[in-house]
Amino acid sequence: MMRSAPPPLAMLVRGNGCWVEDSTGKRYLDFLAGIAVNSLGHAHPALVAAVSRQIATLAHVSNYFATPHQIELAERLRRLTGAGEKGRVYFGNSGAEANEAAFKLARRNNASGKRTRILTLSGSFHGRTMAAMALTGQPEMKAPFEPVPSGVEHLESTIEALEEAMDDTVAAVLLEPIKGEAGVVELPEGYLARARELTERFGALLILDEIQTGIGRTGRWFAYEHYGIVPDAITIAKGLAGGVPIGALVTFEAASDLLQKGQHGSTFGGNPLATASANAVLDEIETAGLVANAERRGAELRGILSAFDSPLIREVRGRGLLIGVGLAEPAAARIAAAAMHEGLILNAPNATSLRIAPPLIVGDAELSEFRERFGRALEHLH
Ligand SMILES: *Cc1c(COP(=O)(O)O)cnc(C)c1O
Repeated sequence: MMRSAPPPLAMLVRGNGCWVEDSTGKRYLDFLAGIAVNSLGHAHPALVAAVSRQIATLAHVSNYFATPHQIELAERLRRLTGAGEKGRVYFGNSGAEANEAAFKLARRNNASGKRTRILTLSGSFHGRTMAAMALTGQPEMKAPFEPVPSGVEHLESTIEALEEAMDDTVAAVLLEPIKGEAGVVELPEGYLARARELTERFGALLILDEIQTGIGRTGRWFAYEHYGIVPDAITIAKGLAGGVPIGALVTFEAASDLLQKGQHGSTFGGNPLATASANAVLDEIETAGLVANAERRGAELRGILSAFDSPLIREVRGRGLLIGVGLAEPAAARIAAAAMHEGLILNAPNATSLRIAPPLIVGDAELSEFRERFGRALEHLH
């Protein structure tokens, strides 16, 4: 493996439901779900059946052709997002690719020739390819690769900073509704509503990166539904196909006219295997009521976390099944390691935050397992 990869935490060989098993036979309760990817957990029969059926039918055709699953998925995303009759979908293969497409969309919002600025947030994460990295508000990530695409400004996450930065030279404001990699951090009250007002007034696009927050994760199909706004475009990836690589840019209404023939594309993007997988995941989320489950189990899980009377736990953040635990001291890596020892996978995105994002299928049994294992991990720190 390239040295850029972190050292692996374990060698995982199989999974089932909310559990995975390593090469020594040790089982772990997976409350990270491949970083909010395994919506249906591991080896879900509906996804297994869809992938098996599709690979035996038609797996890839290139973007010269349409396939029924691709059209079905695009129509579903248009319906689920409320992108409207004019809504359009571009398919790529990852979150970074979805944001690359969003970056190009933003560049196209420049009829005046003066709209050269894209605003994003400090501490945000939008991916690792050059344009996605340019959007990402973490200077240390970019520094080794300068120069990155220009025109991106990173604002402090305050309404005042946004008000100050907005004018008619802004092509797009691109935001994570909840900053996932930063440790599951919400925007200030009223931020998204104000961003919607200002982008509308100045003719900028409001693009939401729902790569981590989308597909039921926060207890709504998309996180922006919590805030009563409608964006001009969103990017989706992680949970969409339950572990099969896929990414999507969905444009709403007039933003759908910006990218013109030949201006973007992907050989693998929207292939029948990935889109059939996504359709199976969306079917299961709808029929099993997993968006509501995310809301309900998320509330229960936050309750469990808040009930731990630990001096280490300062606050519990997030919505639905995207949960951040703010710590009173930089102990995140130690807690995550102790949890691994107790057979529990959770994540330490930074020194003072834990991120918890179980599969959307999580139920009573897994929550009580979590309570026990997390409790033991906290005890065994000292
Ligand atoms: C994971 C993530 C990305 C990048 O997705 P990749 O599939 O790793 O390229 C972009 N934005 C957000 C908010 C993410 O959580």
